[in-house]
Amino acid sequence: MSSSEERERTASERREALKEVLAEARGCVRCPELAATRRTVVFGAGNADAELMFVGEAPGASEDEQGVPFVGRAGKLLEKLLEEIGLSRSEVFIANTLMCRPPGNRDPLPIELDNCQEYLMRKVELIQPTVICTLGNFSTKLLRGDPTGITRLHGQPERLVLGTRAVRLYPIYHPAAALYTPRMLETLREDFMRLPQLLAEGAPEQPQLEALAPLSEPPVEHDLPPAPAPGPAGESEQRPAPDQLGLF
Ligand code: URA
Repeated sequence: MSSSEERERTASERREALKEVLAEARGCVRCPELAATRRTVVFGAGNADAELMFVGEAPGASEDEQGVPFVGRAGKLLEKLLEEIGLSRSEVFIANTLMCRPPGNRDPLPIELDNCQEYLMRKVELIQPTVICTLGNFSTKLLRGDPTGITRLHGQPERLVLGTRAVRLYPIYHPAAALYTPRMLETLREDFMRLPQLLAEGAPEQPQLEALAPLSEPPVEHDLPPAPAPGPAGESEQRPAPDQLGLF
């Protein structure tokens, strides 16, 4: 599909395409350790046509259990902060840099971030958010492609081109970090309060399509590889998967 076609797909076409990405993701075994130890692939949840998208780090134990991102204590805080600015979970889309829980909640490995990034980019392209809020260091560094940390960047929106679209990137502290540090929570809340204004500004200037896809070259496609045949690592997929389709 060309860049202009991608942009012009209707919301329901994009939602259907997102379901296809979800179906592929459920069988993903790109990270053998994660595929062997996860209970569910936590794809992301919320409004498939959201203006605001959050990208956290990786599922924890509760998320792995329930198949839904941010359902633990950090999730409750995220919900509360959303409520304070008049939004609910169902109005936004929440995803993570990784869709599988790292064993023991260890940090995501660079190879795992790399493996999962294509799925995240497909979500961004299909949901077409105006604002992407990165929560903490991992997602901020990943999407910016730069090692600058969240302490320096939080609360500062910037225009970022991801795939075929420009978004307003808005890095903020991860709610899990704020749970234990009152000053960080205060800062997170202040940064959150600026979100409505940022959303009201609408989409940033979009890149010229010619600049993205030179006429002499075919446009880059982001097709995902076919779902692998079930093997030892894919066996966890045999258990009944939670109905994530109903989540967006
Ligand atoms: N922390 C994250 O980054 N993501 C979740 O889904 C839960 C906790």
